[in-house]
Amino acid sequence: MSPNKFEMNNLEKSVDEETTKGEKKDSSSAVLETEPSDSGMAAASATDGVAATALRSVIQRIEHVAERCGRRSDQVRLVAVSKTKPVSLLKQVYDAGHRCFGENYVKELIEKAPQLPDDIEWHFIGNLQSNKVKPLLTGVPNLAMVETVDDEKIANQLDRVAANIGRKPLKVFIQVNTSGEETKSGVEPDGCLELVKHVTSNCPNLEFCGLMTIGMPDYTSTPENFKTLAKCRSEVCEALGISEDQCELSMGMSGDFELAVEMGSTNVRVGSTIFGAREYSTK
Ligand SMILES: *Cc1c(COP(=O)(O)O)cnc(C)c1O
Repeated sequence: MSPNKFEMNNLEKSVDEETTKGEKKDSSSAVLETEPSDSGMAAASATDGVAATALRSVIQRIEHVAERCGRRSDQVRLVAVSKTKPVSLLKQVYDAGHRCFGENYVKELIEKAPQLPDDIEWHFIGNLQSNKVKPLLTGVPNLAMVETVDDEKIANQLDRVAANIGRKPLKVFIQVNTSGEETKSGVEPDGCLELVKHVTSNCPNLEFCGLMTIGMPDYTSTPENFKTLAKCRSEVCEALGISEDQCELSMGMSGDFELAVEMGSTNVRVGSTIFGAREYSTK
C-alpha cells in the first residue's frame, strides 16, 4: 500500500490505522445508502483538534507524490469528504484554510451548508436520486460540482433544475463503474462516451469536467480501476477532440490517494484520513 512508501509521523499513522480498522469493519455499511444517524454525527467530536493537522499532512503527502512524479500539486484538488462529521469539525478544517468539501447525502448536506461559510465549494459525491435534485440545488447555492452523474435521467434532471433556478452551469463528472462488478453506481466503461456526449450535446446547464470512479464495491480500489478510468478518458478526449487536461480524473480515497495521483488523478476524495473513522449506526 502506497502510504508505506512515505514517512509518516505517529499521528498520521494512528489516524490511518484507525481508518483501516474502521473501514474494514463497516465496509458494508459504507455502501448502504442510509442516512447517517444523529448519534453517529455527534460521536466525532472526540477527534476535534486533530482534523486540521491531518489535513495538512494529507496536503503534504499530495505535494510529495506530485513532486516525485513530476506533476504540480496545484493540479490536484483535495476534496475533504466530511459525510457523517459534525459542522464543528468541518469548521476546523475550513479555518485551516480548506475550501473544498465533499458530502454524500442530500439531507445531510442541505443541513450543513447553511451553517458554514458560503465560499465553500461543495462537491456532491453520493448516489443521487432525481427527486432530490431540486432540494440539493436550491438548498446549496454554492454547490460546485456533482461527481456522480451516471445516467441520462439524472443528467437531464440536473440540467432542468439548474435552468429553472437560474444558477450558473453546474460542473459534473460522469461516474464510471470500473470494477466490472455488479454495483448500482457508475455507468459501465462501454457506456461512458455515450453519456458524456449526451451531457455535452443535450445539457446546456451542465458543464462536463471529467470522469470519476470509486473502484471496488467495498470502496477499495486497484490500479486496474484507475487504468480503466484513464482509458475512458482517452476515448472521450479523442471522440470530443479535447485535450486530456480538459477531462479531469476523480479517483483516490484515504487508502490510495497517492497511487491515484501517480496515475493521473486531478481530484482526490479523502475522508477518514482527515476527519477520522466514520461511525455509522448499525441499527
Ligand atoms: C466516503 C467516500 C470517500 C472518502 O472515503 P475515505 O476512504 O474515508 O477517504 C470518497 N469517495 C466517495 C464517493 C465516498 O463515498
